[in-house]
Amino acid sequence: MLSTMMAYPLTTHHILERAGRFFGDREIAWRRPDRSVARYTYADMRRRARALAAALVAAGIREGDRVATLMWNGGAHLEAYFGIPAAGAVLHTLNLRLAPEDIAWIVNDAEDRFVIVDDVLLPLWEKIRPHVNVERVLVAGSGAVPGWAERYEAFIAGKGEGFEYPDIGENAACGMCYTSGTTGRPKGVVYGHRSTVLHSITIAIPDCLGLSVHDAVLAVTPMFHANSWGVPYAAAMVGAKQVFPGPHLGAEDLLDLMAGEGITLALGVPTIWMTIREALDAHPGRWALARGMRMMVGGSAVPPAMIRAFDRHGLAIKHGWGMTETSPVGSLAWLKPQHVAADYDTQVAVRAKQGIPLPLVDMRIVGDAGEQPWDGKSVGELQVRGPWITGSYFKVGAQPDKFTADGWLRTGDVASMDAEGYLRIADRTKDLVKSGGEWISSVDLENAVMGHPAVAEAAVIAIPHPKWDERPLAVVVAKPGANVTAEALREHLLAQFPKWMVPDDYVFVDALPKTSTGKFLKTKLREDFRDYRSKA
Ligand code: AMP
Repeated sequence: MLSTMMAYPLTTHHILERAGRFFGDREIAWRRPDRSVARYTYADMRRRARALAAALVAAGIREGDRVATLMWNGGAHLEAYFGIPAAGAVLHTLNLRLAPEDIAWIVNDAEDRFVIVDDVLLPLWEKIRPHVNVERVLVAGSGAVPGWAERYEAFIAGKGEGFEYPDIGENAACGMCYTSGTTGRPKGVVYGHRSTVLHSITIAIPDCLGLSVHDAVLAVTPMFHANSWGVPYAAAMVGAKQVFPGPHLGAEDLLDLMAGEGITLALGVPTIWMTIREALDAHPGRWALARGMRMMVGGSAVPPAMIRAFDRHGLAIKHGWGMTETSPVGSLAWLKPQHVAADYDTQVAVRAKQGIPLPLVDMRIVGDAGEQPWDGKSVGELQVRGPWITGSYFKVGAQPDKFTADGWLRTGDVASMDAEGYLRIADRTKDLVKSGGEWISSVDLENAVMGHPAVAEAAVIAIPHPKWDERPLAVVVAKPGANVTAEALREHLLAQFPKWMVPDDYVFVDALPKTSTGKFLKTKLREDFRDYRSKA
């Protein structure tokens, strides 16, 4: 028997209409390149997103066509998030931190027809332009527009009156993002209207981000990567105020925005939060942040020391795990009732895990001998499935190394699950260190090294060893002015790990190489230290 419920399609159009109609006076604010703050309302955003949709349709964009963006986080990008899908087209966000030739490859692979480019990013587009066949280039912002491009404002002017959404169905594509893998060609992940709506509702629930109309949300997470963690859609759905940093990602600029705009929830990767922590430590009392401001930090592991450091400032970090392939949020760490009465160290240990799978997301840990027990110790590959987890890649055929025969995504992360259902990521498969036949988690060592008061950042990689096969090497950035030695770090680690796990080798550097999304670039580190010989 079928249900009597209506087959009502889940689309981002509904979110846009809801934001404009019910929360029309709530604000959206963003920093312009000159640092001034621009602002308008959801009613304005709805009107302009519909104008963009109408203009795209009038210009010949058809259902399923890709329209790219090369933009910082800001109001026009939010319009594209809603306006491009409203035209029945697919928003393809381009990662502006990639090399121009890589962006060009991605534009060609996706067959982008139009692109919207921030005026300040035109120099980057000029380098991509000769290698791609994009029909129209729309320039957002008030800067000069070259002859081969046109002004975004002129493109949408006077459009949108009486606009009607196309009837595209909930499984139609609405967005697209390429993986930023450090090996092999990037691959396109295609998000749908249905997956986006379900993801938005779920990340908003109380045990996830607890989003409401009373929130003011600062997305430092780039809108060009994995939908800025889905927050622009979820925040619009509940009518939360949205604030965007534009191109200004320095800690003081971000803290100024947090204080000035009354931010209650901010989101970003650990590398940015490290700089925020340094600024807060350096200037105590300078920023009056909203009491109880929460921060969702993820994209790479959050060291427990970071959670403690922000707690001291009265700011709570919520740790999340996700991938481009998972829309991106897959799990978030929050305390269950039994932890609330526990001591602080236990609470930090729970909060430092990658958390509990979101509703509708299934996870399993698969080792050589099959599915692993949830005992908090047995590790294996993390595999996931759910309505916002990709089941394939754009244009790529069967990929047994990425998807299992029974329909799970192979994440390439090595993880364990404990009896309470908390996920713990030990490493990327490629980054584990195999010493004397035993696996060592580089992430655990990094977190512990970063717990030393004199350390700003640290990454651990495997180096070859004649006896042990591989040994861990810690590459360390000391805090400015701090004095730290290899011996001191070894002592610090010996208090937490068995001797065979603790690195014998430490090198001190000024900075660590990072990926386009702010993760430690371990492929580069492995290359840099290829000839390094262990002292042990
Ligand atoms: P991307 O698709 O570029 O966002 O990268 C996804 C990968 O980032 C995951 O497969 C993990 O390896 C890593 N990652 C994301 N969040 C976390 C986290 N909270 N802790 C550890 N690794 C993470």
